[in-house]
Amino acid sequence: MITVLKFGGTSVGSAEALKRAANIIVAEKNDKVAVVSAMSGITNFLVGALEDKNVDLEEVYTKFEERHMTVAGEIFDEERLESFRKDFDERFSQFKALLNDRDNWNDPFFKDNVSSQGERFSSLMLAHLISSMGYKSVALTSEMAGVYAIGNPLSGSCDLKKTSVSMAMNVRPMVESGVIPIITGFYGINEDGKPLTFGRGGSDYAASAIGNALDADMVEIWTDVNGFMSADPRLVPDAVSIEEMNYSEAAELAYFGAKVLHPRTIEPARMKHIPVKIKNSYQPEHPGTLIHNLRKKRDALLKSVAMKSDLSIVTLRSGEIAYRPKLMAKALDKFGEVDAIYGVSTSLSTMAFLIHNNDVPKALGNLRDMDLEDLEGIDVKSGVALICAVGDDLLDRSGFSGEVFGAVKDIGANVEMISEGASDVSLNFVVPTESAADVIKILHSRFVSGVEQ
Ligand code: ADP
Ligand code: ASP
Ligand code: MG
Repeated sequence: MITVLKFGGTSVGSAEALKRAANIIVAEKNDKVAVVSAMSGITNFLVGALEDKNVDLEEVYTKFEERHMTVAGEIFDEERLESFRKDFDERFSQFKALLNDRDNWNDPFFKDNVSSQGERFSSLMLAHLISSMGYKSVALTSEMAGVYAIGNPLSGSCDLKKTSVSMAMNVRPMVESGVIPIITGFYGINEDGKPLTFGRGGSDYAASAIGNALDADMVEIWTDVNGFMSADPRLVPDAVSIEEMNYSEAAELAYFGAKVLHPRTIEPARMKHIPVKIKNSYQPEHPGTLIHNLRKKRDALLKSVAMKSDLSIVTLRSGEIAYRPKLMAKALDKFGEVDAIYGVSTSLSTMAFLIHNNDVPKALGNLRDMDLEDLEGIDVKSGVALICAVGDDLLDRSGFSGEVFGAVKDIGANVEMISEGASDVSLNFVVPTESAADVIKILHSRFVSGVEQ
């Protein structure tokens, strides 16, 4: 039996957090593998350095080293600190060589390489800590473990087949001999051996992919809240944690904005029926949320609500487009290069696509090549957000969507686009970004907690 335990940034972000994580790992009775994010704030710090035209690299190195070595000084005795320092210096000189060589800055994978450096150091620290507690542990980079990725910079996908072959050779024997591997999350390596990240927050997905590759029995995502909650607790303070969810519910919510899970976390686990648990590293005794095939019905109408902002609706107009499926297919093809399509909606003479703001120029560029005779116009409406409401058998509840839209109307928000029926667990609709937080709050108070604020 293998359990994969993933620790997010805050769960490895300080001496206390690292100690908590180490205790959770060693207490796990199954064979185990840990996957870690960078210490909290480190990825943002690295991305910020890359975006700063006047960046002072020496200052970057000093701050980076200070953050890690200060914590190391708090958790290691003198002897352990010395051996950690040796390993740290080896990785740190590679990190500096990467940034110092200006030729690297033009490599399309450079940003992925730099932004994923933090994971190499947090994993090292945790492996040393576990070793210092008397267990056998080793820090493995994605290169060493054999986590492979395909795709474009900043949005890689794990190559599950290749990863599973390499993990069977590199990681499984280690685990079976009682060693605890601590693997870097967030990135894999592409076929040229270059780091390719899975997008921000990608360590959740890395853990699920590693779980898939190792045929694990459980993937645990250790974070800073009591599991998957009925809404983002930062937005809705009375949000409650959800005991159990099925894969589709969790996947829809993660895809449509619930930041507790990277949007693509569920699929690699679901493919092999591996249960996923969301747990709180600050409160390990809390049961958290179990995500699996089954589900228990709840009394509340809605289980959870999430929102995704920074989206745009791109609408194509053409008379009776609905009677011209070939034109529709051609239009759809023009959106083939965007990162994700969050919604499609059609009428007799329009076809609307919901995409991320950043993808709009790409989509418009491609549409420009389309035969203009075919198209009467293109409108772009930016500044919209998608609301995703997930509940048990939503579609079977007659009048439910009417009640939801009634609540939205009560706070004076406009519904811009609706997708109902595509998924049997969620109701999705688009509102202006400035109303999105209020929509989440009213839906939560009316349909989850039952207490209007
Ligand atoms: P980690 O560093 O552990 O990956 P993240 O910050 O990425 O943690 O994700 C955890 C955060 O997600 C929580 O602190 C919470 O504010 C936010 N969040 C958003 N939606 C939800 C939700 N539905 N349930 C729980 N947390 C949520
Ligand atoms: N450290 C990465 C990030 O901040 C990956 C992760 O935390 O999941 O995006
Ligand atoms: Mg995260």
